[in-house]
Amino acid sequence: MKKTRKSHVIGLVFGLVLLLACIVVANLDNIGAVRPERPAKYVFLFIGDGMGASHVAAAESYLSWKEDGEKRLRQLSFTGFPVLGMTATWSADRNVTCSSAAGTAIACGVKTCNGRLGITPDGDTLESLAVALKEKGYKIGIMSSVPVNHATPAAFYGHNTDRHDYYSITREIPASGFDFFAGAGFIDYAGKSGDMKDSRSLLEEGGYTVCFGADEFDKRKSEATKMVLCQETGRDRNASEYRVEKSPGTDISSGEMMNKCLEFLGDKSPFFIMYEQGEIDWAAHENKTMPMIESILKLDEAVKVALAFYRTHPDETLIIVTADHETGGLALGATSTWNEVDLGWKTLDSIWVSSGYENNLDYGQNRAMNDSAFIGWTTRGHTGGPVPVYAIGRGSERFAGRFDNTGIREKILPE
Ligand SMILES: [Zn+2]
Repeated sequence: MKKTRKSHVIGLVFGLVLLLACIVVANLDNIGAVRPERPAKYVFLFIGDGMGASHVAAAESYLSWKEDGEKRLRQLSFTGFPVLGMTATWSADRNVTCSSAAGTAIACGVKTCNGRLGITPDGDTLESLAVALKEKGYKIGIMSSVPVNHATPAAFYGHNTDRHDYYSITREIPASGFDFFAGAGFIDYAGKSGDMKDSRSLLEEGGYTVCFGADEFDKRKSEATKMVLCQETGRDRNASEYRVEKSPGTDISSGEMMNKCLEFLGDKSPFFIMYEQGEIDWAAHENKTMPMIESILKLDEAVKVALAFYRTHPDETLIIVTADHETGGLALGATSTWNEVDLGWKTLDSIWVSSGYENNLDYGQNRAMNDSAFIGWTTRGHTGGPVPVYAIGRGSERFAGRFDNTGIREKILPE
């Protein structure tokens, strides 16, 4: 009897151990298995056009001087994100990309030739990340500080062999069906010769409410199902390709613009918002240091709005801040040896402030000022180096390390 009971106990213990082992193995199996991933419910993709690592460092160095008068690190909102990656930027046909080829790589996940938009080198039409997310039920916001039909925003909805065919690009907005567009205005507002239907009429016929300025937005937002919001200064006319008209009194700031986008899209449905700060690139093309930094601070303001949203939806939000390429070959500490370099923020800032925040110096004067401040610009074009990627939130770990700019799409939208 005793012996039988003992063998029962041994059998029971053995059975339990076996069961536990099975559970452990099953769980290990589960851990090892590739679980299907889903994109974050709310996705913000910020693109600082032309924003290399040195541009970000220059903005932080300036902030540190401005706020503390010393060299301790003042960080932008996004440089402290927990995930840091880096992307290669070359295009299909050049070591140095243009914005439309880089925008296409980011939006569509495929390299193309410089000058092309949403089209492969062979001429095949590509589908952007925004289109794919729209099909999954996401609301879509495409925002830029420069014209709505410029290369970077256009890469998310346009298809053209020529990025400068602005009027045709505008025509693709209604076809996209995206929910919210924002920008400074439109290039070729009524076509290249000005004799076509104006962009406001074209888009309103396509189902969009087109508003210029905050007042018109506030009046018409409740009746709108789809919105195009431009600056008051972009009202009913051509935007210049390389100049954003500034009117501090009436302009909607970058942070307000992001708030208006969030107000319009709401948080009931999932959304994808691409926000481009375009004048970082434009200022860098002119090698103008302070306007470039001011543009990065505007980008930072928009990112801060996204961060506030993230804090109220931390498990469902992904924020990525990156660039399409570097512009200007910026170096901190040019024209001298390191022990003699003390970046001349005082000089740059005082000229910037006294000019009323308009750098109207000619190229030679501007160059001399940069030299005296030990800020070096090696080109008036783009360069071919990698650019940083900062990420926080759901799925942000996928953005760690070095990858190609074509990898951004699949990291946002794992399929
Ligand atoms: Zn660019």
